[in-house]
Amino acid sequence: MKKLINDPLGVVDDMLEGAVLADQRLVLLEGENIVARRDFQALGQSGKVSIISGGGAGHEPAHGGYVGGGMLTAAVAGPVFTSPSVDAVLKAIMALAGPAGVLLIVKNYTGDRLNFGLAAEIARAAGVEVDMLVVGDDVALDNQGGQVGRRGIAGTVFIHKVAGAAAEAGLTLSQVKAEAERAAAGLFSMGLALGACTVPAAGKPGFNLGDDEVEYGLGIHGESGVRRGRIQSADEMVDVLLARLVEQGELKAGERIALMVNNLGGTAVQELDIVARQALSGCAALGMQVEAVMVGTFLTALEMAGCSLSILRVDDALLTRLKAPTDATAWRGMTTPSAVVSRVPVVSVTEQHAFTGASWSSDQADAMRKVLQAVSQAFQHSEQVLTELDSVVGDGDIGISLARGARAIDAALESLALDRPAVALQQLSAILRRVLGGTSGPLYAVFVLRAGVALSEHAEPGSVGAWAEALQAGCDGMVRLGGASAGDRTMLDALIPAAAALSSQAKGVATADAVLQMAIAAEIGAEATRTMLPSKGRSSYLGERALGHVDPGAYAVALWMRAVASALGD
Ligand code: ADP
Ligand code: MG
Repeated sequence: MKKLINDPLGVVDDMLEGAVLADQRLVLLEGENIVARRDFQALGQSGKVSIISGGGAGHEPAHGGYVGGGMLTAAVAGPVFTSPSVDAVLKAIMALAGPAGVLLIVKNYTGDRLNFGLAAEIARAAGVEVDMLVVGDDVALDNQGGQVGRRGIAGTVFIHKVAGAAAEAGLTLSQVKAEAERAAAGLFSMGLALGACTVPAAGKPGFNLGDDEVEYGLGIHGESGVRRGRIQSADEMVDVLLARLVEQGELKAGERIALMVNNLGGTAVQELDIVARQALSGCAALGMQVEAVMVGTFLTALEMAGCSLSILRVDDALLTRLKAPTDATAWRGMTTPSAVVSRVPVVSVTEQHAFTGASWSSDQADAMRKVLQAVSQAFQHSEQVLTELDSVVGDGDIGISLARGARAIDAALESLALDRPAVALQQLSAILRRVLGGTSGPLYAVFVLRAGVALSEHAEPGSVGAWAEALQAGCDGMVRLGGASAGDRTMLDALIPAAAALSSQAKGVATADAVLQMAIAAEIGAEATRTMLPSKGRSSYLGERALGHVDPGAYAVALWMRAVASALGD
């Protein structure tokens, strides 16, 4: 188990202290793990109902994150995944209760029901106006959870919001409870886990899932779910959750709902948005009207990978509560979704040919086609090798980037103006700029663009001299844009010697021979990067650890130059 903790038994205390330190509006109640609004006393006396929720820790940002104006007045935290004690809850009630009373919002677990329930009894006996609402939204279990009823999971956060907003609006305790109760009756949630979580004090994951397994309908304490399934695409798994929600909630076309896409703790934001995409499309396909949506981390099971979906039936009154302002930090605010992905057409940058240059023979155009095909093949064949090289000294993407560039060149080959090499180079530059990405993208784009400009100034674009100048100009452009120079361990260490080799070829040398000399110079240059200390690009973070490895960008240059030489040598 690797966690950013101090003492496994002090996790809850340390965490709450952190939360309260970070926000002046929050305080801890002395002697207990209770987070409250700093102004809770004034609020109690103001005649507004106070709202308390809580439960075991481990569900952060629930429940402390929902303490704030317009939501919870206080949150009681137990040990991880363990209900807080009767006395802790009682302390919160007694501290907060004003004339308008206190509403407890409890997720349906036996421990929570008993501890919060008994605390409410004792407070009531002492003359405090207190009521309790138990939320059970988890539709995973058949038979509505049998005798114990549905478990309370992430959808409960909606109930915190509804109750908090109703209390803020000045409703009485029974009115606040009635609103929250009415909302809870139309609340349905279901979760999906891709992995287990580890309770700090236990030190081991709560259950084991195979690499290709997922668990549907798990509880939020790492308790196992209702069934295991094979991992499928996000869309397919979301469909399973939605189908169950619709069936259990008896949701019909035309119904107005609010949707929550919740991260169980260990899911990337990226994945959560992918889930949201399908959940929203699925609801739309079923004819449901999603009036408000919220995607984020709302109620977790520690670092569990996975998500849950919650659907709340809404009407105008409930929507007003959901959209009412709150300063609780974990409530992200609900947005109104679009029915379809909105794409706004914009005028695209037209590829103007800033320069044209001279044309050349159709044999030369064919030779250029052959060269481009050879370069493209070389990149596609070497994707793996380049990936490995870049994984050692960089981030491993150069092979993929260049293979993507190669495929784009293939696809565009027939549309290139190969009869006018300067124009073709401009077109290639635009393609590389668009598809390569990374550092290589703009650097190659400027290299090819500058080469094209240089070539356009030559009456005989087929001469070795013209291409030598073009290469030289390309290198200059790359130096200017990227700020590296010879010896900095970049692709320039292959390009610069290659350009020099080409320009040193005397008149009368066959083109194929000149180009072969260029390719050899690039190979020698690339090899020499092994002993160079990196100072530019990602490898610069590696310092001396890069020594002994060839720079992937320089290696790629040697590869394509060798491909050019073979294409022209045949
Ligand atoms: P990244 O993933 O770092 O954005 P790529 O993987 O696309 O970049 O390309 C990495 C290669 O780019 C390096 O191996 C190096 O040869 C080259 N490179 C990095 N910085 C420069 C620079 N300033 N000038 C020329 N080439 C550079
Ligand atoms: Mg890279």
